[in-house]
Amino acid sequence: MSKKNIAVILAAGSGERSGFDVPKQMMKLAGKPIIEHTISAFHNTACIHEIIIVTSANCIEKIEDIVSNRAFFKVKKIIRGGKERYESSLAAINATEPESNTANVRLIFHDAVRPLVSERIIQDVVQALDHYNAVDVVVPTTDTIISADPITNTIESVPLRQKLRNGQTPQGFKWEIIKAAYDLATRDPNFITTDDCGVVLKYLPEEKIFLVTGEHNNIKLTYKEDLHIIDKFLQLNTRKIIIDNLTSRSLSKLKDKVLVVIGGTSGIGAEMAEIANAYQAKVVSVSRRTGTDITDIESLREKFKTVHEEYGNIDYIVNTAGILVKQPLNLMDYKDIVQAIQINYMGAIHVAIAAYEYLKMSKGQLLNFTSSSYTYGRSYYSLYSSSKAAIVNLTQALAEEWHTDFIRINCINPERTNTPMRRRAFGIEPPDSLLSAKSVALLSLGVLLENTSGQVLDITAQSLKNAISAGLLADESITK
Ligand code: C5P
Repeated sequence: MSKKNIAVILAAGSGERSGFDVPKQMMKLAGKPIIEHTISAFHNTACIHEIIIVTSANCIEKIEDIVSNRAFFKVKKIIRGGKERYESSLAAINATEPESNTANVRLIFHDAVRPLVSERIIQDVVQALDHYNAVDVVVPTTDTIISADPITNTIESVPLRQKLRNGQTPQGFKWEIIKAAYDLATRDPNFITTDDCGVVLKYLPEEKIFLVTGEHNNIKLTYKEDLHIIDKFLQLNTRKIIIDNLTSRSLSKLKDKVLVVIGGTSGIGAEMAEIANAYQAKVVSVSRRTGTDITDIESLREKFKTVHEEYGNIDYIVNTAGILVKQPLNLMDYKDIVQAIQINYMGAIHVAIAAYEYLKMSKGQLLNFTSSSYTYGRSYYSLYSSSKAAIVNLTQALAEEWHTDFIRINCINPERTNTPMRRRAFGIEPPDSLLSAKSVALLSLGVLLENTSGQVLDITAQSLKNAISAGLLADESITK
């Protein structure tokens, strides 16, 4: 008899306790609501057959919109939860009561606010349910945990850390087991719980609850600051996926794609154009030298219009244009200051405005470039580093604005790279301290092929070494 694995995404919390003014699951991460990341994780895992979402009255409509916009066809129900988490779980149990064969139905409960749950964890939980009736996901505890006496505010005991684990989700159960546990629990006037495994442990003590190893980055959004950590984890995950997927076979998907590379006549842009050409993309390289000036929005509009007329479509627009003037701000000519901002920042804004209508038609991607100086302003090139900080911010903001149009926008953050711009500004540097423009270009093309948005992807020598072990880059091409 075939098994039916139903993921239950618990999203009825208000987030008030943690000081959020919107429910935590609706906070944005890389351009989209947290819950959308979570639904995607389950939707894209083959062993999950159906999804049910438990939420509060004020989120139902928004979640319905997400489900229909993103065509999450596995989502079969969006129901209302309760005030306490267990009430939300209970709502899902009642809403999934099978007509027959209760033994074949399994519920996999997951916190909506753990958006980075991996396919590996979900699969391990589902597989463990072949042998156990209840399964939890845990990681070893790193802090020493204290059991406190809340009345006297003193230590009651210090449990042995080696035996302690931090509980995560998902937690999986055979339907009839979790149902039986909750039936007993709801008859207990002293019932209290913070998770579902706890209910099975207390009311069905004879059941063995198997432990699947969780992951450090499967964290729960609890405090506002956690968003920054989750965002960084997401970037690292995405970069790994891009590197893992980067093969000549994946790049062959560039065939017949229309790619406009701004700043495409030198440096990373030129390398991207050359590689994309080799994979039979239709590449249009533009720069001041070819008569397109990003400080002039009309010149961009004109160019995109011509490309669209010629090819009927524009899939990707890459903006690698930038100038790096290395001079203290006080000593710069005002006109050079304005020009640096015009190219580095206004240029990116012009590209975004002019690109929008074409990328909306193609559901395409805009790719920007920042610099590692974006996180910390650097003396003598303040206009460059501050414009690059602005590019990151612009990318993140537009990822949200363009999400419903299915336009992706990402930003590459390469470590120091061997380009003409860098050589002009910094002279001769040890060649093995610089990344080669070609290797940065390869990974940047990999980003175009992924379904990711709102990401700032750090390209480092280490990440390129990983790509080499994945086989696409030749050793000597990391640095040049
Ligand atoms: O409360 P906590 O932050 O631990 O919530 C974990 C998950 O449980 C969240 O995804 C939250 O939306 C969900 N929850 C729920 N119903 C509640 C309380 C929490 O679905 N009444």
